Parts: sequence; structure tokens; C-alpha cells
Amino acid sequence: MASLLRAATWGLFLWRGYCSRGTKGELSKGFVEALKAVVGSPHVSTAAVVREHHGHDESVHRCQPPDAVVWPQNVEQVSRLAALCYSQGVPIIPFGTGTGLEGGVCAVQGGVCVNLTHMDRILELNPEDFSVVVEPGVTRKALNTHLRDSGLWFPVDPGADASLCGMAATGASGTNAVRYGTMRDNVLNLEVVLPDGRLLHTAGPGRHFRKSAAGYNLTGLFVGSEGTLGLITATTLRLHPAPEATVAATCAFPSVQAAVDSTVHILQAAVPVARIEFLDEITIDACNRYSKLNCSVAPTLFLEFHGSEKALEEQLQRAEEITQHHGASHFSWAKDAEERSRLWQARHNAWYAVLALRPGCKGYSTDVCVPISRLPEILVQAKEDLNASGLTGATAGHVGDGNFHCMLSVDPEDPEELRRVKAFAERLSRRALALHGTCTGEHGIGLGKRQLLQEEVGAVGVQTMRQLKAMLDPQGLMNPGKVL
Ligand SMILES: Cc1cc2nc3c(=O)[nH]c(=O)nc-3n(C[C@H](O)[C@H](O)[C@H](O)COP(=O)(O)OP(=O)(O)OC[C@H]3O[C@@H](n4cnc5c(N)ncnc54)[C@H](O)[C@@H]3O)c2cc1C
Repeated sequence: MASLLRAATWGLFLWRGYCSRGTKGELSKGFVEALKAVVGSPHVSTAAVVREHHGHDESVHRCQPPDAVVWPQNVEQVSRLAALCYSQGVPIIPFGTGTGLEGGVCAVQGGVCVNLTHMDRILELNPEDFSVVVEPGVTRKALNTHLRDSGLWFPVDPGADASLCGMAATGASGTNAVRYGTMRDNVLNLEVVLPDGRLLHTAGPGRHFRKSAAGYNLTGLFVGSEGTLGLITATTLRLHPAPEATVAATCAFPSVQAAVDSTVHILQAAVPVARIEFLDEITIDACNRYSKLNCSVAPTLFLEFHGSEKALEEQLQRAEEITQHHGASHFSWAKDAEERSRLWQARHNAWYAVLALRPGCKGYSTDVCVPISRLPEILVQAKEDLNASGLTGATAGHVGDGNFHCMLSVDPEDPEELRRVKAFAERLSRRALALHGTCTGEHGIGLGKRQLLQEEVGAVGVQTMRQLKAMLDPQGLMNPGKVL
């Protein structure tokens, strides 16, 4: 296969000078023709509106459009595109579904955006091995729809219906992480096109084992690499048995401390909670209005339990006892599927609910993660800081992991407010670092948190990351300007 690919791209390598002005700016006509030769004319666009669409994600980072967008149909084309760009010093920016929150797809040096949504096949389902192989255009919801009758499911659920390879690229997680882990725990193998076009299978071609002691963990290196080391063209994911029964619950607390204490107590009591989400009173108020819920306006936990009917009874009883011990009130159980789905849809829509509190404004979402014992402290500090900064914001989070989001609304026409929002987000991250946490539990580093990464891992940590990057991408063309 590798020699085939080399032969297929060889003709293109003979041309030189495709890129009219280095790595930033309009691409030469010859280069655009070369892109068309790889993927076909209908799958290349240099139209301004298309480039703009691909120059930003859901964050407030300024739109920085690529010079061209391409839609490969298969891995061979991705490989030829990478080799072509690399031979001409043109930056390559992988694009999943553009739902990222740290500016990961902004083309800061121009270049070619590789939109992978046309590669959307579920390649292989191995029910007995609890694994599936998907192409980068498959989203988490599409996979779960496909799995519906198999008795299996894929639990990692960021709020957006993101692409699974984009989720691998950002090390995403969501409400189920407390029980089922994040993408780091659920990716078994990755097929990656390296910047120069070579194809890598991080765990070896076709392999889908649960554990291994064979050499360096290349899969772990690429999960969370945010498009800076290569293009993920397939991922092998770990699946889980669909629970026999599910029950959700909500309860309100007199304080943030009481909600978090309950969470710690539930985890310490080894209640195998599947989801345990914290929503502050502002988020709850916003969800009540936006999703027509009827919850008390107070710090609240949304919980979910998975298991057999018998096991659920015990889990529910234990959780209810613990939360009541910490002063919880307005306990309500949601047993039927429709009611549960309404609740979790409202949780996933919390971001849009908070945005709707201030029409016309843009959202700024930041996330940090701390050891769970430090969660009440940082949540209280964050709220005080929001008030002192005169900002509109709410907090919600995957409290069982010590991970939470601050969702702020900002007037895009007001640079001063944007400055205050960014300063708040930086202070929040530094507080998390001071409490032995991380500046991001799930959204990634992207453009906005590069300085914070340095503070988090230290000089030698960053130097090691730079050395790894330089070895795989010596010209620095894979998604330049991100992470490091
Ligand atoms: C309402 C809302 C709620 C959210 N909630 C959560 C949450 O709870 N948890 C969470 O983790 N995130 C959350 N996010 C953020 C976002 O959904 C995740 O970061 C997601 O993993 C991004 O996937 P994507 O396919 O949209 O990637 P994109 O935004 O397209 O890209 C993100 C980064 O990954 C790179 N990339 C994408 N695809 C590939 C690929 N195939 N190969 C190599 N690199 C690639 C890009 O270059 C970029 O750097 C939320 C976003 C929104 C809008």
C-alpha cells in the first residue's frame, strides 16, 4: 500500500512552486489543481464563504480561514494530500465537525483544511470483542444509532454531536466519564496519516486488544494531540454493554459544598454512579427557561444509575440516603426513557440555555479539572471572581471527575468585556493549577491555553513535547500554532 501511495503521488512531486507565498496566503493555481487531481474538483473549494466556515469552531477565537478546503473520500487520498502539502511546505489543518471550544481549527498560517466528514463509514463491528472501527466522519450519535440493536453502546458524550476522531484528537469526555472513562480510556487503536503521508496504526494494523505491554503507547500520544501530529483516519473504539436498566434523578442542595460533599460520599461508598453532574443555580434557572424543566433554582445534581433492576434499587436507596444526609431536597426520579432523555438533553443544552440568557451575545466556555476534594473551593472562588469581574456566567460540570465548565456570555462588539472574560478564564486555570489540577479536563489547549500548558507541565515537559512534535512533523506544518 505504501509503495502504491508513493507511486500515486510521485507525479505530483515533480511539480514545484505550488504555493505562491510560503505557508501563509493564497495558494497558487497549480497547487489547487494538484489538490483537485487527488480528490476530484468537486471536493476542493477556495470560495470565501466555505473557507470562513472552516476557519473557526464554536469558540470566540477569531475566524482565521484556510486557503483551501478539501474533502477526501478515503485514506489513500488523505495520504496523498498530506504528502503533497508536506512536499510544498503548506500547513494542514484537520477538521472534524468544528464543535471545538479552543480554536483548534483556526488556520493561523493559512494552508489546507482537510474536512474528513465524507469518510463516514463504520468499518468493522466486533460485538464479541466489544470494539468497533469507524472513519472520521462518524459522529458519536450516529455510532450509537448504528449500535441500537446490538446490546452495545459507546458512552463518551461531549455536549455536541462531535466526530469520534475529532473527539479522539481532543481527548474529549462528557457526562459518562465518571463510570466509563474518557476518550483516553476508550480508544484502542488509531489509523493516522503522518504529516509526510505515511500511514501509522498506533497499536498495529487491525489490532483491538484490551491491554498491552508492547513498547511505547503511541495511541496515547495521538489521543489529545489536537491535529498537531497527524490526521486520524480511523479509530478503534471500546464498546460497553448497554445497561439492562437506567434511572436518572435530580436533587437540589443548600450549597455548592453540600452538592460536592454528596458526590465524594457517593463515590467513597462505591455506588457505581454512571453520571453525576453539578449545575449551579444560574445554570438550573437557564435550563428551566430554555428546556422547560421545573427544577428548584439551587445548586443541583443530576445523577444516573445503570445496572440490573435489583442493583438499581440498592444504588438508588444508597444515593438518596447520602444526598439527604447532606441536606438535599426536591428529590425526583426519572425512570421512563422519555423523561430521562428530556433531562439529559437539557443538561447537554445547558450551554445554549446560558447563552439565551443574554440574546445577541457569544458564548465563551472554559473548563478546568482539579482533585475532587478541591472542587468546592475552586467553584466558590470562581463564582466570587465572576461577580467581582461584573461578568455574566454560570458553572456546570462533571463533578464526579472534579471537572467543571464556566460558561460566560460576552458581547462580541465589546473588546473590553472580552478582555475581562479572557482574564477571568486565565485566573481560573491558574487557580486549578495551584490546586494541583489541570487547565483543561476536556476542551484541550488549542490556541488559547498554550501558555497555561507550559505552566502546567513545566519547561522540561514542554521541551519533551516539542521534541516529539519535531520528530513527527519537522517542518511544523500539522495544525501550526496549536498546543505548543
Ligand atoms: C455545546 C457544546 C458542548 C460541548 N461539551 C463538551 C464536553 O462535555 N466535553 C468535551 O470534551 N468537549 C465538549 N465540547 C467541545 C467539542 O465538542 C469537543 O472538543 C469535540 O471533541 C470536538 O470534536 P470535533 O469533531 O467537532 O472537532 P473539531 O472542532 O473539528 O476539531 C477539534 C480539534 O481536533 C482536530 N481534529 C479534528 N478531527 C481530527 C482528525 N480526524 N484527525 C486529527 N485531528 C483532528 C482539529 O484540527 C482541532 O484541533 C462541547 C462543544 C459544544 C459546542
